[in-house]
Amino acid sequence: MSKEFDVHRIRKDFPILSRSVNGHPLVYFDNAATSQTPQIVIDAIVDYYCGYNANIHRGVHALSQEATDAYEQARYKVQKHFNAKKAHEIIFTSGTTHGINLIANGFESLLQKGDELIVSALEHHSNIVPWQMLCERTGAQLRVIPMDNDGALIMNAYDELLSERTKLVFTNHVSNALGTINPIEEIIEKAHGVGAAVLIDGAQACPHIKPDVQALDVDFYVASAHKICGPTGVGVLYGKEDWLNKLPPYQGGGEMIAEVTFEKTTYADLPHKFEAGTPNIAGGIAFGVALDYMNAIGFNEIASYEDRLLQYATKKLQEIDGLIIYGTTSKKTAVISFNVGEVHPYDIGTILDKLGIAVRTGHHCAQPIMDFFKIPGTIRASFSFYNTEEEIDVFVNGLKRAVSMLS
Ligand SMILES: *Cc1c(COP(=O)(O)O)cnc(C)c1O
Repeated sequence: MSKEFDVHRIRKDFPILSRSVNGHPLVYFDNAATSQTPQIVIDAIVDYYCGYNANIHRGVHALSQEATDAYEQARYKVQKHFNAKKAHEIIFTSGTTHGINLIANGFESLLQKGDELIVSALEHHSNIVPWQMLCERTGAQLRVIPMDNDGALIMNAYDELLSERTKLVFTNHVSNALGTINPIEEIIEKAHGVGAAVLIDGAQACPHIKPDVQALDVDFYVASAHKICGPTGVGVLYGKEDWLNKLPPYQGGGEMIAEVTFEKTTYADLPHKFEAGTPNIAGGIAFGVALDYMNAIGFNEIASYEDRLLQYATKKLQEIDGLIIYGTTSKKTAVISFNVGEVHPYDIGTILDKLGIAVRTGHHCAQPIMDFFKIPGTIRASFSFYNTEEEIDVFVNGLKRAVSMLS
């Protein structure tokens, strides 16, 4: 069933898209860093603070009830979106980074010297550093799945890394630096073959792909709302019930306890065991609204439209002399990382900004990828379903101007 994809109607949902920057209409191509926010999500936040701002799960009064209902309703929306079996397998976090740290912390008591953890060469720093810290505390070893020149993981090498020593495998679903879509089905299945658990960092996949955690049979899946049209400061950790029951809590505090005495405290049931303290209530509610919004447009529609933008932009960029694209697998999302000749990415980014065009320059929190290509960084243009081919034209013309000024 194909719905009419009307980008100009969709753009009207996003107030920020009608502003100008440095005297030019905004062209926002930094979607891999954070997405823009539709009015309906902004309204959800305003409605909460104007109408029923109260702390959740503990009040007898009406506002607290309303806030609790809305927050738990949002949890159901997230459960449904990710197709988790149970609502209490959905833990609200402050974002992807929080979710990864929560699991890394939880595994400390399960690891010993000689155990191995496998990470991919394509990771964001937030899916590297918490595990390195865990290895330092436990004596476990970090092994790395290498990548090839196209920015794809070398799966034969993964096969060789796996052994009965492997306790946990973690990789992103989609690389934020290159856009590569990783073969996570295969990664998960093979890890389970040696009895290892798998955590997938879905921060960059979720804007484009609707993951089905049961079909994937993944143990943990984390994402951030702010890359899926939601607000900053809220995210999701999905975990299989058995795993979440097995892991110790991350933070102690209110909300996560069953009973507290100075002798001994018992922990609350899932999901509260992992949700210490007052959460981002408005953010959680708005996250649910953002998922509703994107599902109403449809993830198949979003993916095929964005793929059209990717093909169009790739073709246009390849016409520029000396332009090199990093991340050239056929399975990628609408992210283009590139350099032009010897020109420094930052200088190009600065000129593009003067023209109202927002791109990212630098290492994109993925220095190991930059080291692999022996470059300090790239220019990254990342597209969303509210971008247009006309914006790509403006961007390519601006880029040509920047390159001729700088070389
Ligand atoms: C953005 C991103 C993160 C970090 O997300 P936060 O919202 O900053 O916690 C981690 N991994 C990937 C692949 C990302 O794109």
